[in-house]
Amino acid sequence: MKCMLCESFSLTHICQNCQHSFLEPKIYKRKIQNIDVISFYKYKDIKNLLHTKHTDMGYYIYNILAENSFKKFAEEFNYENTIHSIAVDDDSKNGYSHTAILNKHLKSKNIQPLFNKLQAENSASYSGKSKQFRLTNPRNFELTKIDAKQIILVDDIITTGLTLNEAIIKLEQNSLKPLFCLTLADSSLK
Ligand SMILES: [Zn+2]
Repeated sequence: MKCMLCESFSLTHICQNCQHSFLEPKIYKRKIQNIDVISFYKYKDIKNLLHTKHTDMGYYIYNILAENSFKKFAEEFNYENTIHSIAVDDDSKNGYSHTAILNKHLKSKNIQPLFNKLQAENSASYSGKSKQFRLTNPRNFELTKIDAKQIILVDDIITTGLTLNEAIIKLEQNSLKPLFCLTLADSSLK
């Protein structure tokens, strides 16, 4: 097949050269309610790759993105005990869930991913919508009981932060402590 970015022959959808050149993760931080949100990319830099999540191709692209970022983060993550990670709204709609792919790559010495725990009852798309629309259409998360205390929250993109804010509140209402959040990309970064 051809590399999606440089069109040279490649065994994967993005060739190794392009992965090295364009997908080297950085650590960007912002805060929601005093909780760190760590992102690995600027949204504008990988926008076209993120948009593949609406297609079958997204399965492969999100695996490549996760290998370059979430997996590396998890391998270097040291903590005193094992903590659990859950992804925002990881119900698989088109045969796969892009947030579950990210979460899966956190599996490591100190991180144990859990799946299908936090689902949005309201599935209205936030993509391209105003903050006002997002405020008046909350996600209404449903949380399945979790036998854990400390949680890493996972999502793919942070924009206004309203979704993660709502997810954090839901966890706290259930006596779960979000340690920090991980997202692939932050759209507030210029
Ligand atoms: Zn390439």
